Amino acid sequence: MKDCIFCKIVKGEIPSKKVYEDEEILAFEDINPVTPVHILVIPKKHICSINELEAEDERIIGKIFSVIKNIAKEQGISEDGYRVVSNCGENGGQEVKHLHFHILGGKKLGTKVA
Ligand code: 5GP
Ligand code: ZN
Repeated sequence: MKDCIFCKIVKGEIPSKKVYEDEEILAFEDINPVTPVHILVIPKKHICSINELEAEDERIIGKIFSVIKNIAKEQGISEDGYRVVSNCGENGGQEVKHLHFHILGGKKLGTKVA
């Protein structure tokens, strides 16, 4: 989608530090990490947010979680634990309107989610 930062990252028009890529999923380091490990996992297909998911997207979302599991292991945070977050819409604090999952780890996170 035109003017979408993450679509530009998918197309290579904006550089990123990729940690995983296949034909339909991309994972890359967050440009402004808030934890020692902060990776974003996205479908290459432009989906604005969880609100725009359709039945046909169920398979890719399942695959994204398998990718998250593998990345966590590769990053060495599986055993200690980590958090997966997808912000949705205004109240959710979503800044980039391309569905993404934050993998946050490498330190003890707060117990509050809001
Ligand atoms: P949101 O608040 O939408 O859930 O999170 C968007 C995330 O994307 C933020 O953590 C922000 O640091 C990250 N981000 C925004 N622009 C870029 C970029 O150009 N490259 C990378 N790697 N991350 C970005
Ligand atoms: Zn996009």
